[in-house]
Amino acid sequence: MNGIRIARYMLALIIASISVFPAITRAQSDTPRNDEGTAGEPYPNMPSIPPIGVRTGKYFDIPASAQGPAVDPAKGYRLQDFGGGLYMITNNQIQSMFLVYDRGVVVMDAPQSYAAHIRQAIAEVSDRPITHLIYSHSHADHIGGAKALGDIPTIIAHEETLRLLKQDADPNRPLPTVTFKDKYTLHVGDQVLELSYHGPGHAPGNIFICAPKERVLMVIDTVFPGWMPWRRFAVSQDVFDEFARVEDVRKMDWDTVVGGHVTRVGTHADVELQVEFYRDIKQAAATALATTKIGETLNPLDKGNPWAVFDNYIDRVAAQCVNTLTPKWSTKLAGYDVFIWDQCYSMEQTLRID
Ligand SMILES: [Zn+2]
Ligand SMILES: [Zn+2]
Repeated sequence: MNGIRIARYMLALIIASISVFPAITRAQSDTPRNDEGTAGEPYPNMPSIPPIGVRTGKYFDIPASAQGPAVDPAKGYRLQDFGGGLYMITNNQIQSMFLVYDRGVVVMDAPQSYAAHIRQAIAEVSDRPITHLIYSHSHADHIGGAKALGDIPTIIAHEETLRLLKQDADPNRPLPTVTFKDKYTLHVGDQVLELSYHGPGHAPGNIFICAPKERVLMVIDTVFPGWMPWRRFAVSQDVFDEFARVEDVRKMDWDTVVGGHVTRVGTHADVELQVEFYRDIKQAAATALATTKIGETLNPLDKGNPWAVFDNYIDRVAAQCVNTLTPKWSTKLAGYDVFIWDQCYSMEQTLRID
């Protein structure tokens, strides 16, 4: 072979190795990987709790502090007597109430999942008719069983709930017949219910329902006694306003709070714990936002992709937030591992955008 033929041969080898064995040349190289759309190396200090979208082998056990009384599976619900004619119905996933007075019954919320049992539950303690239905807010999981109760003469809700239900046009959620803006007091027989609106928080129109004689406060999708709140702070439309509603609950005078979900009712200690968790997660996410460097660990090939730059940054902020909170909170709140990633993603976004 002369020199030119050797050079041609070497060139052909190089071209062949690039075109025929691209995986080999990439694997042997220190240059940035170009495995488009595949998982990369885990971020440094990745929490052991699987991130969103990764299957969990076994979720953390539920602490005894979060357990409620058992539900008889044959009945499908349990009744909790608050005294004075006020009761909670629950299947240990969702909660509603009713109040018996001298000539009838006032029902507060009609959850889809056990609407068929509400009349049966009332019949356990009273044979009086349902005269009033109060909607805590417009969401179907809490009032989607309203139609199944039959025609109720008076349905009371906040004016925002009426607006939203008109939009939804759901035959299972009949429109309120009485609405209010700030406060509404319902006197029936010698019973009293004080309804009030404090702000949009979880959802526009979400009201507080207070039974002052029984010292019970019902505030739905806001307080989660013993539990991690539902993902993204109960998918609140305004996260910091939702935090302010928890503060409102904390300052009010009551003995029992009904939060609308999970296994049991709440105490002031539960609300204190939730306020403390909100304070901690806000601090953890703020610190992570301030100390995480944009662009670190990013594949240099993605530097021109602003969405990728932020996705990488936000992932590392959320990971740091989870790492900060886990030692203190993983055993304090049931379901911590289920939603902690969601909460950290929600909090970083709220702090960055709102
Ligand atoms: Zn809701
Ligand atoms: Zn809910």
